[in-house]
Amino acid sequence: MTNEPAESAAPSTLSRRDFIRQAAAGFVAVTAIGVGGVNVMRAGGAPRDLAHSTGVVMPDPSLCIGCLTCEVVCSRVHREQGLSDKPRIRIFNDPATSVATVITEAYGDRGKYHQSPCLMCPDAPCHHVCPANALPVVPTVNARVIDEDKCIACGRCAAACPFPVFPESEATGRETHGQVTRITYDPAKNVYTKCDLCFWREEGPACVEACPVNVRIHQGIIHSDHLCLDKPASTPEHWAVQSAQDWQINL
Ligand code: SF4
Ligand code: SF4
Ligand code: SF4
Repeated sequence: MTNEPAESAAPSTLSRRDFIRQAAAGFVAVTAIGVGGVNVMRAGGAPRDLAHSTGVVMPDPSLCIGCLTCEVVCSRVHREQGLSDKPRIRIFNDPATSVATVITEAYGDRGKYHQSPCLMCPDAPCHHVCPANALPVVPTVNARVIDEDKCIACGRCAAACPFPVFPESEATGRETHGQVTRITYDPAKNVYTKCDLCFWREEGPACVEACPVNVRIHQGIIHSDHLCLDKPASTPEHWAVQSAQDWQINL
């Protein structure tokens, strides 16, 4: 079930912007990049190939109404599995978001949000830095998943994730988690947690299923050729596009 870290190589220090630029250009042998200037170096060198995740949660901020349904259902379905109930997707205020006309027509000025889930990176730096073998690629859907039974809460995965979230002062949910990347800490369970695509659910990610904008698009009430939260196949090509979009917004 797990992929072990690879062997030695000279560590490199890259800015997040460099990481995205090089990764988007096909450079994927990247050492983990820390947050706040702290680099967490993987013990190994060139990462082993990871199976591509079968999907990834792909948000469109222009369609988001900030209702928090995704956060609530994420918490609930994980709690029901005995897992951390910290939401794996979070919604932030983002004045830079350009709200889609169909949303303005349906909901007035309710918009300017940004969703920030895990991007299921093909090379998943978070996977490679875990010293406890607690961040495997789960075989059913190949999602990068934290095994809460093995997690020793060292925080390396969160530090290695190159994708920041907005400042928590901009989070629309009331809870603060001290979250800075796509992996967050749960003090109640003393584990870190991240999106796992709800890998046990035949229906797929609960957030994608429950998003009311998605529901209205499916019903034909809101007209859009794509969803507010979608789940496309996770390919390197898709990741390059998604990460570049996310990166521009988050810098
Ligand atoms: S916090 Fe847990 S999952 Fe993350 S690197 Fe440490 S042991 Fe692994
Ligand atoms: S947690 Fe971060 S590094 Fe890990 S797969 Fe998700 S976006 Fe990539
Ligand atoms: S459920 Fe959909 S519309 Fe509501 S906050 Fe989440 S992504 Fe936005």
